[in-house]
Amino acid sequence: MIKAVRGMKDILPPETARWQQLETVARTVFACYGYQEIRLPLLERTELFSRSIGASTDIVEKEMYTFLDRHGESVTLRPEATASVVRAFIENRLDQGAEVKKFFTIGPMFRYERPQKGRYRQFHQINAEALGGEAPELDAEIILLLLDIFARLGLTAIELVINSLGCPRCRPAYLLELTALLARQVRDLCEDCQRRSASNPLRVFDCKSKVCQEMLAQVPTIADHLCDQCSWHDQRVRELLNRYGVPFRHNPRLVRGLDYYTRTAFEVVTTHLGAQDAVAGGGRYNGLVKELGGPDIPAVGFAIGEERLVALLSQQEVTTPAPPLVFVAVLGTAALDRGFDLVQTLRRQGCRAEMDFGQRSLKAQLTMANRRGAAYVLILGDQELAAGEAPLKNMASGAQQVVSLTDLTAIQAALGGKGA
Ligand SMILES: [Zn+2]
Ligand SMILES: [Zn+2]
Repeated sequence: MIKAVRGMKDILPPETARWQQLETVARTVFACYGYQEIRLPLLERTELFSRSIGASTDIVEKEMYTFLDRHGESVTLRPEATASVVRAFIENRLDQGAEVKKFFTIGPMFRYERPQKGRYRQFHQINAEALGGEAPELDAEIILLLLDIFARLGLTAIELVINSLGCPRCRPAYLLELTALLARQVRDLCEDCQRRSASNPLRVFDCKSKVCQEMLAQVPTIADHLCDQCSWHDQRVRELLNRYGVPFRHNPRLVRGLDYYTRTAFEVVTTHLGAQDAVAGGGRYNGLVKELGGPDIPAVGFAIGEERLVALLSQQEVTTPAPPLVFVAVLGTAALDRGFDLVQTLRRQGCRAEMDFGQRSLKAQLTMANRRGAAYVLILGDQELAAGEAPLKNMASGAQQVVSLTDLTAIQAALGGKGA
């Protein structure tokens, strides 16, 4: 038996219905906010991610699916979507025109992490990216969009956490101070953070280790170091969120895992899945387009982790509105042939219809119909073919009515909730 690759998961029905539900809701909300879909390759040049995400992040250091292709070129299965969106934005000259360009994309990402419960090496995200706008209104808008998706899904046990990470004008001074502070107490940090403290000190805030967390509680945060513009931007975002009655918590220690964020950073966390887990996160990334060789264009975006969201949704009742099913049970080859036509005709008229081709007994076919959840069974044999009409059985009530095989309106009426 050939098994799936370690860390890869099959997503099976009926769970796929939840995925469809959440993606449908997201698409609807994106349309309201003027975000258009962009579909990008899963495979990119490795350099794209090492330059955008940051060479000294965990993702690039140890979590990327990187390999050489047949020509010896290093390629990587995308670990996140933003870098690819920016690459496509630059390559396809999508920066033309003054308006903000708003994109969304839905699909798999890949990270070579140790597989554990709820974490897979192929996982899925819904991403939104708005390029070309610097206004804090755009940050507020994209956060409201994100929360609208959650609201439409009926998710309530969530909390918005926000912070500002400063800009190239105010962050370097803070980083110097932080690096110096961490260097003095480097022995108190966990092994990972000892390494990070010099190369990428902000990442220390992401550490889950208790020792590190305790030490960090004493360390000054970026909040006290913001320049006037960053501070004004941050205030304006919060003011707009307040205006729409959005509750949020300011966490000056929220840093997000990637190097490219500037100013607004945010996460949506849930307490439902045990530990405080982020189901979505994002922020502003003003320097990234330029960093990747494009024009100096500011941008903001977010990613929703679909696996986590599906896990949350599975604690809720899911309604999959599907029309009732009619199962056509056939006895004999002539009935099989006629049944095939009938099922096709019904399907083309928007009915949900099924049959079995195995020439089984009526009892076996009725069992099958029951297992599929058929609301009605139409029974077709030589006698019915000759008479041109057949019994339609309501599986719930047991009631039967005879319907004409040439006039399908009776079957359709029955399926519409009338008759039978
Ligand atoms: Zn600043
Ligand atoms: Zn640590």
